Amino acid sequence: MPMGTTHRRLNTAISVPLAAGALWLKWDSGYIVSLLAGFHFATYFMNPDLDLNSLGYKSWGWLRFIWWPYQKMLAHRCFLSHFPVISTILRIIYLLWFPAVLLLLLGTSVRAAAWETLFDWFPVLGPYLVVFILGMIFSDTLHAIFDTSSTELKTFFRGTRRRGNSRNFFAHHQQETPGWANRRRAGRR
Ligand SMILES: [Zn+2]
Repeated sequence: MPMGTTHRRLNTAISVPLAAGALWLKWDSGYIVSLLAGFHFATYFMNPDLDLNSLGYKSWGWLRFIWWPYQKMLAHRCFLSHFPVISTILRIIYLLWFPAVLLLLLGTSVRAAAWETLFDWFPVLGPYLVVFILGMIFSDTLHAIFDTSSTELKTFFRGTRRRGNSRNFFAHHQQETPGWANRRRAGRR
């Protein structure tokens, strides 16, 4: 099963107890919607695997060019793309290059109107935006945990039940296995 599909299924399943927990804590319905929207946006579009030609990357359609430099700059599963909290904040900051360029191209009057709208609406929407980002952070943290635990589990089972058809993390992501990983595998046998 492709790794992206697995992440989506696991996160979608976890969004149910997440929503239930927020309801149990008697969160405002606007905050619950923001939390779940951020969580699903990160799960389906803005996830750590944007550093790869992944399902999330393809989900951006023709807008995927926004993430092309990101993908080329970062190695898959590096600290900057996969470490919880930090990677989510960095992706949000990175994404701003696109509206920034658009505003630069659209001229002074559009820029002034955009700033005015931002300052008018930020006090109202700011708290919901924070909760939206918290949802994204939670989704990305689960992604990092599942990435790590799936590799650990595969390593564990490789030597026991599934010796015959085990694939390492790189093969699982349709990437060439680096020399150091092959040496580690050989060393374990
Ligand atoms: Zn990943």
